[in-house]
Amino acid sequence: LQRSAFFEAIQKHDPESTAVVHSLSGRSFKYGGLLQDVAASKARLLKATGKTEDQIVGERIAFVVENSYDYVVTLLACLASNAIAVPLAPSFPASELRYILNHSQTLALLHSSKFAKVAQEVLKDGLEQQPISVALEKIKDQSQASSTPVELKGEIEAAEGGMMLYTSGTTARPKGVLLPQSVLTAQSQSLVQAWNYTPEDRLLHVLPLHHIHGTVNALLTPILAGSTIEFMFPFNVDAVWKRLAAPFTTNADNQKRPITFFTVVPTIWARMLQSWPDLPDDLKKAAGEAIQRKNLRLNISGSAALPTPTKKAWTDLSKGNVLLERFGMTEVGMALSCGLDDTDRIDGSVGWPLPSVEARLVDPDTQEIIKHGEETTSEGKERSGEIQLRGPTIFKGYWRNPEATTKEFTEDGWFKTGDIAVRKPVPGSGEGQSGEWAKGPAYFIHGRKSADIIKTGGEKVSALEIERELLSLPQVKECAVVGLPSEAWGQKAAAIIVLTEQGKTAGRGGKEWSALDMRRALKDKMVAYKIPQDMKIVDELPRNAMGKINKKDLVQQVFGDLVA
Ligand code: ATP
Ligand code: MG
Repeated sequence: LQRSAFFEAIQKHDPESTAVVHSLSGRSFKYGGLLQDVAASKARLLKATGKTEDQIVGERIAFVVENSYDYVVTLLACLASNAIAVPLAPSFPASELRYILNHSQTLALLHSSKFAKVAQEVLKDGLEQQPISVALEKIKDQSQASSTPVELKGEIEAAEGGMMLYTSGTTARPKGVLLPQSVLTAQSQSLVQAWNYTPEDRLLHVLPLHHIHGTVNALLTPILAGSTIEFMFPFNVDAVWKRLAAPFTTNADNQKRPITFFTVVPTIWARMLQSWPDLPDDLKKAAGEAIQRKNLRLNISGSAALPTPTKKAWTDLSKGNVLLERFGMTEVGMALSCGLDDTDRIDGSVGWPLPSVEARLVDPDTQEIIKHGEETTSEGKERSGEIQLRGPTIFKGYWRNPEATTKEFTEDGWFKTGDIAVRKPVPGSGEGQSGEWAKGPAYFIHGRKSADIIKTGGEKVSALEIERELLSLPQVKECAVVGLPSEAWGQKAAAIIVLTEQGKTAGRGGKEWSALDMRRALKDKMVAYKIPQDMKIVDELPRNAMGKINKKDLVQQVFGDLVA
């Protein structure tokens, strides 16, 4: 039995410090009243479901609530009940939400007034096990801090309650990932240690709250550390620039603090950069200063590969505030990360295994572990391998899918991520602020085993590596590199490209950039077999909520006849 680290931490935070701010309305909520609100929410949950304290343990409680203090209270009330919180994305189509409700066999579906229609739509057709529908009342006045500790079930069985998140569904139907509270705690503690969240931090939160990035990195972890979370949702690039530029919010919490912490996906960094030239001059001046290191302490990118040009452009704009890239997934939280010191934010790398995470590389063909110091073959070739992970931050299994659980774990308990990487020695790691863990050879992601590793003429080619090179060309705005079947080579690389304005007239005689132009441009950058042989131009690349591309679907859409 162990106590819940989150509630213990909240109890110790300065009651006067701000837990949550609604950026646009300016409303704010203190840590002092949070546990009272959670306790009240838990009591309402028990009443609405007709369950006792013991009966609700391990039950799945789904909810659709906007990014707000109410969301935080609802999530924590599920944790305080030792239930399993299933946060849902209000933007999902009803059919997708019904799939999740059926799959997770939820006892109840809670909804805020804003999403009453969503809940109604989802429930109207009947589900395998009809959940109790619960309308949540908006929290208007926060409870006052009381000196008597809140009645919460202090002792929790690590395996019982927690959160269930569904994977992004990039490669297949979303899988239900059960994250017990012990795992959520370990993930958050690891991040506090690595990224040094403090009560002085104020984090601007613009992410959806049904994925690990938004819920663990940007919500549970700052709560554990006593930082302030400022919600602004949905993401709006102008509003973000304005907020960053404002020296303090004009709201009641009156803390006059700049945003110190911003963690988002690569597409959001790219959009911020794209919109910059059009900002009015005074906003540019204020925002330009606000994104420098002395204000914005930490800017993080993850969930998909960060293109090096994006990283570079941000570093230039912020006068040296280098983006920190990390690697994670629903099943494991954050696994690898670059360090706090600039020298440990290496271009193209996701850094080192985070504190309490054990990582190894395993050759997917031979199952041989690639040991430290054996990262290159005797001919000097890089050896790539699947990242496998172990430790207290790793999930315990997929919900109602024991086959997948068995398949994705090795017999000795390592989780097979399905992502391929290489390790390379890098200079200057493991010192200064970064911490002990950030040392040794660093990891460089090559992509997903299933979709990004192209086997051509006996060579393994990383789609991600080619994408990085393509994105560094002024003609290419966005791209996805995929493998197509080839009689001669087994597979061949092909590029699907969105052109920049320049690219639209960069071909011969002012025509559109062509496959030939692309091959010419890449000739000096990479060996011949890596250069994509085909190219298709599209208007935009379809991405899911986390900015990821389903390459299997994309290939079908763009090259259907070639793949069939
Ligand atoms: P599904 O498992 O349903 O197909 P998904 O794997 O996209 O979807 P997530 O768990 O949200 O669902 O995403 C984890 C994946 O995101 C990782 O396996 C990896 O492929 C990718 N990823 C995360 N961070 C990075 C990064 N920094 N660079 C490259 N890829 C990343
Ligand atoms: Mg996955």
